[in-house]
Amino acid sequence: MTVGTRTFFSRRQLLSGSSAALASGMIGSSAVPALAKAPMLNTQAPSFYRFKMGDFEATVVSDGPLPIGPAARTFRGPSPQDLDRLITDHFLPTDNVVLDQNALVLNTGDRLILFDTGMLSVKRPNTATGRLPISLQQAGIDPKDIDAVVLTHTHIDHCGGMVGDDGNRIFPNAQVYLQESDFNYWLDDKRLEASPVEQGSARTARKNLPPYRDRLVFIKEGQEVLPGIHAVHTPGHTVGHTAYVISSAGKSICFIGDVAHHVILFEQPQIEVNFDTILNRAWNLASSCSTCWPASGYRYWFITCRGPESGSLQSAATVSAMCRPQCSLCCRSARSPAAE
Ligand SMILES: [Zn+2]
Repeated sequence: MTVGTRTFFSRRQLLSGSSAALASGMIGSSAVPALAKAPMLNTQAPSFYRFKMGDFEATVVSDGPLPIGPAARTFRGPSPQDLDRLITDHFLPTDNVVLDQNALVLNTGDRLILFDTGMLSVKRPNTATGRLPISLQQAGIDPKDIDAVVLTHTHIDHCGGMVGDDGNRIFPNAQVYLQESDFNYWLDDKRLEASPVEQGSARTARKNLPPYRDRLVFIKEGQEVLPGIHAVHTPGHTVGHTAYVISSAGKSICFIGDVAHHVILFEQPQIEVNFDTILNRAWNLASSCSTCWPASGYRYWFITCRGPESGSLQSAATVSAMCRPQCSLCCRSARSPAAE
């Protein structure tokens, strides 16, 4: 731009080569319009989200997205055409399902509690998985300060972040809470001869749980695991899968773990997921939590909830609409007999 007899150049023009043009005397003649030029940064914002829940402070912390391949390999039930439509209706690709991995850290004022741990010890090459320690650091949380690790179940991507490559504990001062049935199932030698999917989780459990053997606490259905945290046994996805209702100062949320891996399961809960230990069952139970309370899930961006007071995100309406008719916690008669 020109003011009076002086000519000014923006930083962008100078960076893009206009300075060279100036030096060569081209300004004002046939100079090509400047284009922005900057190095690719290839970085994102820190992967955590913090919010208040009653008197508790909750921080959702990412272990990084987990790509698991074509939808047809993960979901069973719908025709290929219907499955493609379900996925693409959400503007998602069908050739590679990408699962979020969002652990939850709860600061109760007395304790620091981590729900699920990601897959640091078995992180996949060429993916961003296994980044929970980095995300914790970005959130200002030292793994040494974690008092309790509470597991929804012991699949590869939930208990796989409890030790590092060297086998040492990532959370050296934590007690570990889980269902005994999951522990027994996944450490059973039979699992090492089962399907490749089961073998992977079995090997991961064997790597991650024994280093905490002197710190394991087996929980029971309905038990107040820690102050303000109640276990809701939701078998199906695994035999010991457990959701947790977290309550403080009149507010509650439910951490539903792997009840539903993907948004399409809110719409079509009868769809079977390849990783379910007992197919076609998980949904009937754990969806109940979402009916009664806002829900935080391992697979959704930060918090999925039904209440507008909680700042609902995209999935909230779907959770409410799809779970309410299937409530199995409020309406015990609706519970699947096969899952009792
Ligand atoms: Zn799972």
